[in-house]
Amino acid sequence: MKLILLGAAGSGKGTLAKKITADFGIPQLSMGDMLRDIASSGSELGKKIGEYQNKGILVPSDVVFEVLKVRLSQADCKNGFILDGFPRSLEQAELLSGVTDIDAVISVELAFDELERRLVSRRTCPKCGDIDNANYEGFTGNCRKCQTPLFQRDDDKPEAIRTRLEVYKKNITPLINFYSGKVFKVSSAGTPDETYRPVKNFLGSLEA
Ligand code: AMP
Repeated sequence: MKLILLGAAGSGKGTLAKKITADFGIPQLSMGDMLRDIASSGSELGKKIGEYQNKGILVPSDVVFEVLKVRLSQADCKNGFILDGFPRSLEQAELLSGVTDIDAVISVELAFDELERRLVSRRTCPKCGDIDNANYEGFTGNCRKCQTPLFQRDDDKPEAIRTRLEVYKKNITPLINFYSGKVFKVSSAGTPDETYRPVKNFLGSLEA
């Protein structure tokens, strides 16, 4: 199954992707994580990527697409994948259509004020990448999986958050139109399990 997950920062699409991976055995290709890995390498390209990311603006599509193509050519993508964070613009969707077909697009939807609220209190584990939220019950400031102290990503600070949400708003309608007929919309206003349930049913029906 070749899937795309659309959703603004903070919508919970990464969490949803992990659940799909666990049940359907296809890898999550997180574009944001791949780019952060390059940024943290300290190379010249990495430094440039880091500058875009910290401001919350899109890294140029040609750079991102080269990174994605390398990842898509790896063996674990042979039976499908979940694209998490790509495409983020019509230009990227058009580039992607030149190298692969897509079975379905899941659009994770949440009101913008709630997205903002979730993002400012979001905390990330520097070691295992797990995400938590300072407003959630049982939050201690340490990762629930590996106990490492959590940190706030630079682009989870108010100014970058506003920019990221504006970028998303501008691009989402053209993307939904581009994939019309393949889009399954789901609200992430409830718990992660509540969000996942209809998606699991939908993907089960695709597989059948
Ligand atoms: P994310 O972790 O998905 O929220 O992405 C964090 C940042 O990585 C974004 O704000 C962009 O700067 C960059 N990024 C992630 N995916 C893409 C993409 N498909 N195109 C361009 N930039 C991206």
